[in-house]
Amino acid sequence: MHKFSYRGGRLFCEGVDLGRLAEETGTPAYVYSAGTLLENYRRLEAAFSSLDHRVCYAIKANSNLAVLDLLARAGSGFDIVSGGELFRVLAAGGSPARTTFAGVGKSVAEIETALRAGIYSLNVESETELERIEAVAARLGLEAPVAIRVNPDVDAGTHAFISTGRSLNKFGIGLDRAGEVYRRAANCRHLKLRGIQTHIGSQILETRPFVEAIEKLLPLVRALKREYQIEFFSIGGGMGIVYEQALASGHADWWTQPATTPRLDPETYAAALLPLLEPLGLKILLEPGRSLVGNAGALLATVEYVKQAPGKTFVIVDTAMNDLIRPALYDGWHEIVPLQEPASDARLAVDVVGPVCESGDFIAKDRKLPPLKAGDRLAILSTGAYGSSMASNYNSRPLAPEILVHGDTHRVVRQRQTLHDLIASESEPAR
Ligand SMILES: *Cc1c(COP(=O)(O)O)cnc(C)c1O
Repeated sequence: MHKFSYRGGRLFCEGVDLGRLAEETGTPAYVYSAGTLLENYRRLEAAFSSLDHRVCYAIKANSNLAVLDLLARAGSGFDIVSGGELFRVLAAGGSPARTTFAGVGKSVAEIETALRAGIYSLNVESETELERIEAVAARLGLEAPVAIRVNPDVDAGTHAFISTGRSLNKFGIGLDRAGEVYRRAANCRHLKLRGIQTHIGSQILETRPFVEAIEKLLPLVRALKREYQIEFFSIGGGMGIVYEQALASGHADWWTQPATTPRLDPETYAAALLPLLEPLGLKILLEPGRSLVGNAGALLATVEYVKQAPGKTFVIVDTAMNDLIRPALYDGWHEIVPLQEPASDARLAVDVVGPVCESGDFIAKDRKLPPLKAGDRLAILSTGAYGSSMASNYNSRPLAPEILVHGDTHRVVRQRQTLHDLIASESEPAR
């Protein structure tokens, strides 16, 4: 679901003309649709309304304060993976009591800050981490709420870099060890066993891996509830989105999504999982990242050059892997559409590449796009998740601005970095 569409031949995000926005703010620039984000959140909420549940948005997908503020106001909790993300949640007015802290490498300082803030749960990924949390909690004279991330060893059928639920991944504790680890944790005075967590991977478009993982964990979950009165079961995130977009258009249906495109709606996801979860009588936590924000974002870019090479046409744009690393990092595929709707059906296969000095710096390969020329503006769609949050200054390129659209209005929610910002925290050695 998203609110990007052509009106009178021009691409709009909700009520905002993106061509005019690009003139005003320059490119590259990220644009987010608040309406899309909130609708995604509300649909998921509604789908699980029969259950005692909480959505904990995984903020690593997009951690802009304005995004966090929108979701906090809508009632969302948060799932974080660093002290920096905790700082963001608190800055955005999010509640630590509705926040869970995941990640395999929590430092002593991060654990201490999270406990002092009153985190809902530290989701523990190893036995040594459990010992560290017990030691920090003892020193602070606190009881640390913990859940153990259990790795169900299922194949999510997704890209190897975003699959986390196999025993060969670095995440979680194996199902065979989990019971023993809980028993040890139960004997620690400064630990409170609050729940159990799992997360099997990302961009999953079928219900089967989720069902399989939950079914494998159910006997353990029931035993933990009986023996330690745990209060929650977090089933993680990982719901996939459709990257091939059908854009609503006044023109002939220019982008039509094949009916065979796999998709996972919140309703389908809930329908598959509710029968397994409802009998448990536990609070169910959901940790969606991509499925809330992915389709809510677009990255605006301008064509700098069209370069003809033997047997290949390169469309060189002003955005690059430092702004959007998904294509280079895990073969991420993004729909690319001109801000001005093309007049004809002519298509040419081109590589869309950025100015960064790496052969891995591409946005799309062998993509059939309308004829393009320098100065044309494009939108790279479905870039709301793992776009700006993974951006870097590589090649000393300032970070792109982020703009939040709400109805007919827009607001810059992160300024474009200046050249001065690039070097502001650096210094030359004293001479
Ligand atoms: C990244 C992550 C998520 C969110 O994953 P999505 O695929 O974006 O939904 C949820 N939980 C944990 C523990 C994560 O690391």
